[in-house]
Amino acid sequence: MRRKLLLGNWKMNKTVTEAKAFATEAKTLGREARANKIDMGICVPYVDLAPVKKILKNSLIVGAENCNELDHGAYTGEISIPMLKDLNISWCIIGHSERRMYYAETSEHCNKKILALLENKMTPVYCCGESLETYEEGKTKEFVEEQIRVGFKNVSAEDASKVVIAYEPIWSIGTGKNASKEIAEDVCSFIRGIIKELYGSKVSNKIRILYGGSVKPNNIKEYLTQDDIDGALVGGASLDVNSYKELLTNLL
Ligand code: PEP
Repeated sequence: MRRKLLLGNWKMNKTVTEAKAFATEAKTLGREARANKIDMGICVPYVDLAPVKKILKNSLIVGAENCNELDHGAYTGEISIPMLKDLNISWCIIGHSERRMYYAETSEHCNKKILALLENKMTPVYCCGESLETYEEGKTKEFVEEQIRVGFKNVSAEDASKVVIAYEPIWSIGTGKNASKEIAEDVCSFIRGIIKELYGSKVSNKIRILYGGSVKPNNIKEYLTQDDIDGALVGGASLDVNSYKELLTNLL
């Protein structure tokens, strides 16, 4: 039985002051989530990681939104995995469509980051998903398949199920235009099939696959009751602490 996972993604939002206020209010949520066998957390901007982690400790998962695959070096503006580990951060989003779109991140590059995170016993949340154009051309599955195959290159069967996959059709992110639960389930089930082909059913039954794209408190349940959707990656609705809390309460 896969545990449900609810992850927020703040993107480039919240000053340290705002982040601390949110964390203080959200602190008790982790216990409630765990009592209902749900894992819950937020991925936050680098500057917010230390103060938010200090408040939340192990109550909610606190993750980063990106990292560099190298341990150190002359890469101005980048953050390394040892820097995250030093803050006791063990989760990190990789390959969000905004990073692919605005910072030209490729699946090959994501693969290096995934391998580096796994090497460090951390949890990559690997995002995949097609553009509106690809969707309208009916090429969603072949596009996502390539992202998955490249992203998982050289990931061992032992490590594969430690990766969390987030299927996020780009046309549904921040647009209020959700993929229907049927579309989301169809693609998530397709992704599970690729993992089965690559690693066998033990891994494919274990790996968690999230849906992301305009998930709100009023629609979260319809996604999370699908067979192959194990949770949600939530942007906009994770910014307001009340709406973040409602994501959980509306699931119970
Ligand atoms: C996201 O940031 O990954 C996301 C899905 O955003 P939103 O929920 O706002 O569509």
